[in-house]
Amino acid sequence: MGVEIGGTTMRAAIATSPRRIIARRAIPSPASLPADGIVQAAVGLVNELEAEAGAAPRAVGVSFAGPLDPKSGVILDSPHLRQTRGAPLRKMMEYALGVPVAMDNCENVAALGEHRLGAGRGLRSMLYVAVGTGIGAGIIHSGRLYQGARGAAGEVGHIVYDPKGSQCDCGRRGCWETLVSGPAIAREARVRLKADNSSILYNLCAGKQENVTSELVHQAALQNDRLASEILARAARWLGIGLANLVTVFDPERVVVGGGVAQIGNTILEPAFATARDYLYPFHRDSVRFLPAALGVDSGVVGALMLATKWR
Ligand SMILES: [Zn+2]
Repeated sequence: MGVEIGGTTMRAAIATSPRRIIARRAIPSPASLPADGIVQAAVGLVNELEAEAGAAPRAVGVSFAGPLDPKSGVILDSPHLRQTRGAPLRKMMEYALGVPVAMDNCENVAALGEHRLGAGRGLRSMLYVAVGTGIGAGIIHSGRLYQGARGAAGEVGHIVYDPKGSQCDCGRRGCWETLVSGPAIAREARVRLKADNSSILYNLCAGKQENVTSELVHQAALQNDRLASEILARAARWLGIGLANLVTVFDPERVVVGGGVAQIGNTILEPAFATARDYLYPFHRDSVRFLPAALGVDSGVVGALMLATKWR
């Protein structure tokens, strides 16, 4: 079984191998609950899939939205699931499920999925960048995950680009994810709608700005709405600049971009990749490739299934 505990969505899949998923399910993530509520929701999802597949999992791999100690499974921090900080989530899951549980943060897990079965197969070095509720990266170095000294490498969404910018969930201002994530796109749209209600976004959200999501902005952009297109173009530009900077640091063979916002697809990824190429240090221009995640929204659960196979 692979379980992905995200800031917005909780997904799970049961499989006979990471390539062969038998059943899957997704629910809204109960992100505001304390750790035991999160565990309960995850266990509920596992039990439902178990019933649907008619088979119990022998091991569970878990992808979690926030840095954690990969050995102990204790959550170091989670801006999106705030009340889980310090909780021994891996042990809690093992106790509740009665099977071994392996756990890592969501970008590392998705990087593993993309590296073994997706857009990064066979590479020695690659970066996986997830753009969703926030931004994070999984770093593959010499064919293996690079986790940093404490398991917290890759928190690239909190690289500060604008010290006077919007407040970030981490407590600082102007982090990369305040410019590019799903909530950032929605926030920018709300601000712009106050000054301009001629956008079709205004109709799509039924005049209620609090209903605006990045998905609605995408829908409006698909109908050639000027405001929505400008908002996505701005997000794409910041995404590209940030990706180019990451290449400068890591010199990867490939950069794979996934996560919920990346599901918007070419409307955002094409201009982002073009901007990234413009901003690359000249030396890297011919050597690095930018690609969308091949597994789509499944990179996380496939990576989590990968983690679970260590007991096979
Ligand atoms: Zn931040």
